[in-house]
Amino acid sequence: MPLPAESVVHGSKAKPQDLPSIDKLLRLPTVQALVQSHGHTLVAGEARKLLDALRARALAGELSLGEVAPEALTDALAASVDGRLAPRLRRVINLTGTVLHTNLGRAVLPESAIRHLTTMMEGPNNLEFDLASGGRGDRDSIVEGLLCDITGAEAATVVNNNAAAVLLSIAALAGGREVIVSRGELVEIGGAFRMPDVMASAGARMVEVGTTNRTHLADYERAINAQTAMLMKVHTSNYAIEGFTSAVAEAELAELSRKRGVALVTDLGSGSLVDMSKYGLPKEPTPQEMLADGCGVVTFSGDKLLGGPQAGLIVGERELIAKIRKFPMKRALRLSKLPLAALEATLTLYLQPELLTRDLPTLRWLTRPTEQIEAIAQSLLDPLRIAVAPRYMVELASMSSQVGSGSLPVDRLPSAGLAIAPVLSGKRGAGSALDALAAALRALPQPIIGRVADDKLYLDCRCLDDVTVMRDQLGHLKALLA
Ligand SMILES: *Cc1c(COP(=O)(O)O)cnc(C)c1O
Repeated sequence: MPLPAESVVHGSKAKPQDLPSIDKLLRLPTVQALVQSHGHTLVAGEARKLLDALRARALAGELSLGEVAPEALTDALAASVDGRLAPRLRRVINLTGTVLHTNLGRAVLPESAIRHLTTMMEGPNNLEFDLASGGRGDRDSIVEGLLCDITGAEAATVVNNNAAAVLLSIAALAGGREVIVSRGELVEIGGAFRMPDVMASAGARMVEVGTTNRTHLADYERAINAQTAMLMKVHTSNYAIEGFTSAVAEAELAELSRKRGVALVTDLGSGSLVDMSKYGLPKEPTPQEMLADGCGVVTFSGDKLLGGPQAGLIVGERELIAKIRKFPMKRALRLSKLPLAALEATLTLYLQPELLTRDLPTLRWLTRPTEQIEAIAQSLLDPLRIAVAPRYMVELASMSSQVGSGSLPVDRLPSAGLAIAPVLSGKRGAGSALDALAAALRALPQPIIGRVADDKLYLDCRCLDDVTVMRDQLGHLKALLA
């Protein structure tokens, strides 16, 4: 006999007293299985939160009777336990076209670095133990030889990142004294790293010389006095000053620094260890060139063009590096054993330069031939069309990739990929349709990150190695868009 409508509505709602006690919930055999896998603490904690939330909804008259059934409670509890344990750090697929994307973790490590890193972390290692003598060792010695071989430096030390390398170098070599820097090089990179603030944090007084667009040797020369400890060059890695410009080359500054007995320190930012123009890429100054030009100290990042882990590399003259290494702040900024292992393996690749474009992901992607990128895009075209139809259309498109992380800011690399546009009757609604698509791509098990521009969502295939992971998720994407 059909029930009257009102009693159906009334009868389908759960009251707070329909919910089990926490003890009763935990005694359910299905929940006991959860406790077996994850332990009592986590499961009981999540169970308490779940019951509290359900009780609040019951009081508001929003909880259905179906939701208090034992199977439904177990499912909800299992889901919240899974959610609690799911990592916040997730693998993503970078189709932004920016190879060194700071928000996506910058350089992807080479296979050999991942292997060395895991092997070293699986047990104790000789981080600060000299296997030859049995005495205490120095963690710097793990990579110092490699860095000196590759760059031609007399000595080298490593810290947490290049920001730390700059801060430490200034503090150790110029703390309490003056540092001369060109007004054209007062760089701000992302994340509140501004050269004037770094100087202040390092306890040095910054003396600006020249103008935004032009600085001459005489400007530096005039500013040197008894208080001067350092001349500083900063590679303008994330912007370019064009037009009527002039900057003083390192070689000229080196001569001045020698003559006047002040240090010359160059913050190179990216610091590629190979000449990028060899691969047809725009030229970036290398640490080896800076040292050959006479810089006393050169600092650069481990996870930009070098293609390794986050690290700050400091190379240069023996005496200056010794001073930097002995400075107390070094202890607070030192590199941990994890990136150190990855850095060692990455630098080892540079002893075999012929392998770099094959084995170092950063260089492999930067030098990837356009035809190869097009072929990858082509292989995804039809499956992607099916996944996003009928709301969106997809076509092959040429686009421009970027190096990223401030390296080579002006130059763009011809690339290829897929452009997805909403199917709309008018122009209105394109923005929200693209937002919905971008959100669905981000909600995939392995989120896909593209780039929105000109009412389209672009998926640049330059950095895509594993087409299968991408293709296997397209069914999921279709479901999310339905
Ligand atoms: C990137 C960069 C830094 C900071 O390097 P991190 O490794 O990110 O700390 C400093 N100076 C310049 C010029 C840079 O390009």
